[in-house]
Amino acid sequence: MSDVVKLVRHDEVAVVMVDSPPVNALSAAVRRGIFENVKAANADDAVKAIVIACAGRTFVAGADIPEFGKPPQSPGLNEVIAEIEKCTKPVIAAIHGTALGGGLELTLGCHFRVAVLGLRPGAGGTQRRPRAVGPELGVQMIVTGNPIGAPEALKNGLIEEIVEGPTEGAIAFAKKVVAEKRPLRVLKNDDSKLAAAKADRSIFTNAAAAANKKNRGMNAPLACAEAVSWTLDTPFDEALKKEREMFLKLVADDQSKAQRYAFFSEREAAKVQGVPDSTKPRPVERVAIIGAGTMGGGIAMSFANAGIPVTLIETGEEQLKRGLGIMQKNWENTAARGGIPADAPAKRMALIDGKVGLDNVKDADLIIEAVFETMAIKKEVFTAIDAHAKPGAVLASNTSYLNINDIAAVTKRPQDVLGMHFFSPANVMKLCEIVRAEKTAPDALLTAVAIARKIAKVPAVVGVCDGFVGNRMLAARSKQSEKLLFEGALPQQVDAVVTKFGLPMGPFAMGDLAGLDIGWRSRQDRGIKSEIADALCEAGRFGQKTGKGYYKYESGSRAPIPDPEVEKLIDDTCKRLGLTRRAISDQEILERMVYPMINEGARILEEKIASRPSDIDVIWLYGYGWPIYRGGPMFYADLVGLKEIAERLSFYAKQTNDPSLEPAPLLKKLADEGKTFASLGK
Ligand code: NAD
Repeated sequence: MSDVVKLVRHDEVAVVMVDSPPVNALSAAVRRGIFENVKAANADDAVKAIVIACAGRTFVAGADIPEFGKPPQSPGLNEVIAEIEKCTKPVIAAIHGTALGGGLELTLGCHFRVAVLGLRPGAGGTQRRPRAVGPELGVQMIVTGNPIGAPEALKNGLIEEIVEGPTEGAIAFAKKVVAEKRPLRVLKNDDSKLAAAKADRSIFTNAAAAANKKNRGMNAPLACAEAVSWTLDTPFDEALKKEREMFLKLVADDQSKAQRYAFFSEREAAKVQGVPDSTKPRPVERVAIIGAGTMGGGIAMSFANAGIPVTLIETGEEQLKRGLGIMQKNWENTAARGGIPADAPAKRMALIDGKVGLDNVKDADLIIEAVFETMAIKKEVFTAIDAHAKPGAVLASNTSYLNINDIAAVTKRPQDVLGMHFFSPANVMKLCEIVRAEKTAPDALLTAVAIARKIAKVPAVVGVCDGFVGNRMLAARSKQSEKLLFEGALPQQVDAVVTKFGLPMGPFAMGDLAGLDIGWRSRQDRGIKSEIADALCEAGRFGQKTGKGYYKYESGSRAPIPDPEVEKLIDDTCKRLGLTRRAISDQEILERMVYPMINEGARILEEKIASRPSDIDVIWLYGYGWPIYRGGPMFYADLVGLKEIAERLSFYAKQTNDPSLEPAPLLKKLADEGKTFASLGK
């Protein structure tokens, strides 16, 4: 009947086996296959129980995302579940891997669940799940989206039994249910766990507040919390109808579009353009990382987390010991919080071989340099790497701004040199900008992309320019945030607008976190002035590390507190410079924080530093915490409309006498033609 769902008999038990790689997503074909096979098994007198199981690495891991936004095809998931609930014979879900989203909902339609698992929301999940686990855990699971393990699922009544092999375990369980003549448990008719919550509705408001804290500005978790509360006072069928309406509304809004776009953009980013199809990545068995500082340590941790051995190289034993100590402490803290197993820190440390001297790169297939950001030092290090590395090793620099072509030029193998720009903290941040230099060989490039994916990073290929994609766009924003202070805004006003938009931090809080002295020293080196920032540093305000920067900090706290002293310092500086400050609206701040970045993004596309607007968005989503429900700066630009953005940029260029704000030619062209950035790939 179906290619992706088969019916297999084991004595009196019929197994409906879904086999739709890679993750058994609920495509129309899978839904139809389950629907028809369950119906047939229920009609067959020789069948006494039905098991729904999946082949491959996981039970149904969710909806078929490409189907979202297209006309729905019958049968819908609710119809499939209704067919299961209608069965007169026990239906058992055999769960392995993760039962996420629609997959979990499918299991909730079954009378019984047995598992080996982890668990999320959508059709029926807000109504049946609270009936299985009680409303409190039900609402928490749905708003956080955090999967729960099999033992917890068992404890809370989400599953009936933990089994070893999912299918065999479920068949044995099915036989037991038949022999014991257990009554069928149809969750939609079972309100036994809802009573406790009837007295106390605060669990829903608390869960909504927690969701809002975690995903500020995101609609879906709040809507889900509300939907779970319907279990208390809305009849099941009516609640299910309301839930479907809510789901369709959420799926149609810009936040949902943005999230689907982010999903596909990440996938696209992994497909490297401009390399022959036959190109294969080079094998990487051992990695050498040079520098055990902030970045080198974090990068080494990412490799060890993925089980890849690392030679970590420093200039002296002391630096090495310090770096290794920080890594160990970091893992131990995670283990103490239960984030990794207790024996993981020791196992991961064992994968790291600390060494002094650059001759130790000799066994590595990939070498990543993370030493000080000075061209002379980088060149010295690459000359030494070139002398010792084995032929065919890929040589990468983690530089934030420096020209990779110039670095490659000091080696006799520029074809093997590229950038791998990780973000801080490197063991946490997912982005890795892979910088393709003029002479980088296609297979060296693919090696970097493949290894980045292997260590669970999101790679995006970019070209050589000052700051590559992310930091170059950030610089366009920084220029405006600094100017806004001279024109009349305060750090806390600018930061509040940026965080309200959804970024985790505003530019001034970020400056305080990174340390204001770094930029100050670099300005001194280059003979550049930035009066307000300079005055702060001259007053010893280097940011969080000195307890004072654009904000003040209470000891031991990272929470920025607006400081009247800073307001006075800004005021005095402006007076000294003869500048008149004006009131600046939040709307102007938002436009000047975001539109210049978009403009820089357009230039980056023109110069082919990034090959797709979606690559730029991936960089902002995974490297800078751009809110996923806003898709990325280029996606956001398309939503606002390029004509509006070009007009506002022109306006600010004149208002602030800053020709760099004039719309980039590509932006202007698309705006004039009424097109979007998304139209570029088509
Ligand atoms: P850091 O000062 O924390 O660490 C640099 C380390 O390199 C030091 O431990 C130093 O002893 C070591 N080192 C210097 N010369 C060496 C040599 N010849 N051989 C071996 N080790 C040597 O600096 P960091 O913040 O980790 O930055 C490293 C690189 O990463 C820089 O290029 C920087 O621009 C880039 N980067 C930094 C960040 C960030 O947020 N810190 C983010 C992305 C990229």
